[in-house]
Amino acid sequence: MDLTTPVMYVKGVGPRRAGDLEAKGLSTAGDLLHYAPFRYEDRSNVKPISELAPGEMATVLAEVESLHSPRFQRKDLGLVEAVVKDASSVRLTAKWFHAQYLANVLTAGTRVAFFGKVEFDTYKGELAMLHPEFEVLREDDEDEAGLHTGRIVPIYEAAGKVTTRVLRNILKRLTDNLPELEDALPETIRQRLKLPTLAKAIRDTHFPPAETEVRLLNGFRSPAQVRMIFEEFFWLETGMAFKRGQARAETGIAFALNDQVREQIKRMLPFKPTGAQKRVLGEIARDMAAGAPMSRLLQGDVGSGKTIVAAQAAIIAVENGYQAALLAPTEILATQHYLNLKKIFEPIGYQVLPLVGSMKKKEKEFAKSAFQSGFAQIAVGTHALLEENVEFQRLGLAIIDEQHRFGVMQRKKLQQKGVTPDVLVMTATPIPRTLALTIYGDLDVSVIDELPPGRKPIQTLHKTALELEQVYSAILREVRAGHQAYIVYPAIEESETLAVKAASAAHAELARDVFPTLSVGLLHGKLPQEEKERVMSAFQRGEIHVLVSTTVIEVGVDVPNASVMVIENAERFGLAQIHQLRGRVGRGAAQSYCVLVTDKLSEMGKERIRTLVDSTDGFYIAEMDLRLRGPGEFLGTKQSGLPVFRIGNLLRDKEILEEARTEAVSFVEHPPTAGDLQRAIEYVREHWQRRYGLALIG
Ligand code: ADP
Ligand code: MG
Repeated sequence: MDLTTPVMYVKGVGPRRAGDLEAKGLSTAGDLLHYAPFRYEDRSNVKPISELAPGEMATVLAEVESLHSPRFQRKDLGLVEAVVKDASSVRLTAKWFHAQYLANVLTAGTRVAFFGKVEFDTYKGELAMLHPEFEVLREDDEDEAGLHTGRIVPIYEAAGKVTTRVLRNILKRLTDNLPELEDALPETIRQRLKLPTLAKAIRDTHFPPAETEVRLLNGFRSPAQVRMIFEEFFWLETGMAFKRGQARAETGIAFALNDQVREQIKRMLPFKPTGAQKRVLGEIARDMAAGAPMSRLLQGDVGSGKTIVAAQAAIIAVENGYQAALLAPTEILATQHYLNLKKIFEPIGYQVLPLVGSMKKKEKEFAKSAFQSGFAQIAVGTHALLEENVEFQRLGLAIIDEQHRFGVMQRKKLQQKGVTPDVLVMTATPIPRTLALTIYGDLDVSVIDELPPGRKPIQTLHKTALELEQVYSAILREVRAGHQAYIVYPAIEESETLAVKAASAAHAELARDVFPTLSVGLLHGKLPQEEKERVMSAFQRGEIHVLVSTTVIEVGVDVPNASVMVIENAERFGLAQIHQLRGRVGRGAAQSYCVLVTDKLSEMGKERIRTLVDSTDGFYIAEMDLRLRGPGEFLGTKQSGLPVFRIGNLLRDKEILEEARTEAVSFVEHPPTAGDLQRAIEYVREHWQRRYGLALIG
């Protein structure tokens, strides 16, 4: 028996339970050993019955004197009462409803441990426990309280029909006969941080020593738990650090940064860059000029001006005779980027072409051959760019906008269209540091932490559906003052069709009844590409006053003259998503407004809306969103890069993650011996790679 033994062959499991365990991802003995209790209960308060006080939680060890099932007149509730007695000779009655099956278990004379809340039955004048946990004690464990009572007891999340109690039994046997465990955690680190060995950590996590504080356990801060959490993060971060090191050692393209390139960059800039933009461009340019391929994440709040930085990077590439590709998550955004880049690049003699799914076949063919022949220097597109048959003559720079909408594999796919091209990924969803460390730990990070000058903070208001009239007159006022507005209807991913319906219906009504004198446009994902382009550019030129839309405009859309964003059914959006939508306004000098329209709100709903009304700080909002929804939801199902931790928790264990990261970096950069690093990497490859999606190691 070792860690890889299938659960089916673990004592106490068998084929039926194995199915349930496997369904929960517990396939091997090792998986079981890493299946940490999510809570602990202190059942160690063992007392003679004579010393029990009503109200306390206690364990008693007693012998069944008699068992009754009193019948009520009106209904048989299956009540079972066991009168039990211990050495103190005082009696206690344990009661269960719907427990007829106990008749065969708690026969007179059986020795049993009971754990529960002590009550005083005033009617009968005796002590009682209602529905206590109990455990029949075997002959040979007379003075031991048992496994499920009389100690600090681990509580597991059930796996199908395998209850916490069964799991406790299985794990007890497993930890009592622990197979030989290789403790791969570098010994120097383990000792310096005073962490227990793996075997001890596993044993103590499941069955904490008697003196452990239960509060510590339930906060996941016992030494054993800390070791398990640290280790999980440590291997991930070791993998990441190793990967970063490898990437740095690779040969990429060393772009020249001569005067001509600098001149072109200056020439294309439509405005004076902010200090932050200058700084990040400096970081990007340095990476691009260096011999190793760039892997950089550009983070900046909505509206901070990432696009122009990307365009500057693209100039460096094309001026060096390479191509650049820009990948965006929606056709609307790709289209907008295309229109922008065309404005910048065509005057200086470069070809920009789009490639999106809804283009006509002929147009697509043309674009593809232009990328392949090198006729076009810049490609802007959606997932269509990632298809097999899209090839480049000489791709030098891959840019991924709104990276969080893509998975790690998609990033790789674009990258593989060139030979070690530089990679720049951008995101406007500020990623809390804990997540950044786990998902993007292999990237260098640049942050734009400054908005272009002259922006006024957006005012956010909360209105109910009954107050829509007010909202509409406000829109009318803004339009009369020369501005434009968005009205957005929610699209939950699965039901884009429903959202399209809602938006279309609203569009018809708004155009006819509410704003008969205004030009009201409609934009959603199901429109043909030409129509999208037409609507987008009409809105950009100010010919459409009010744009009714689904969330297709969530990311990237940039029309500085728009000053009102109305979000219908705002309660259905995630915080980060609303923040993104809101970021469509407040891009010009005018005061902008965001109106969150909701139906009735739950308490949590109110909290969420309040967060948005109170703050325009994307990082703060992202932290709140992460806290309210958890990492998986926060990132969305599209993000395949999130590792599944077994015991670590990104919200709870931030400090341990930071520590693991620091330790991992210094371990990879200065291993005690080369052999130690080699062994550690082997270990990560063998045990953690798949779980963490660290596909690049090797
Ligand atoms: P995001 O970071 O959200 O992608 P964009 O790149 O779309 O932001 O930029 C937001 C708006 O700010 C655009 O209208 C852009 O032209 C404008 N902008 C960007 N940088 C500056 C700057 N340095 N000065 C003035 N306006 C800027
Ligand atoms: Mg953008």
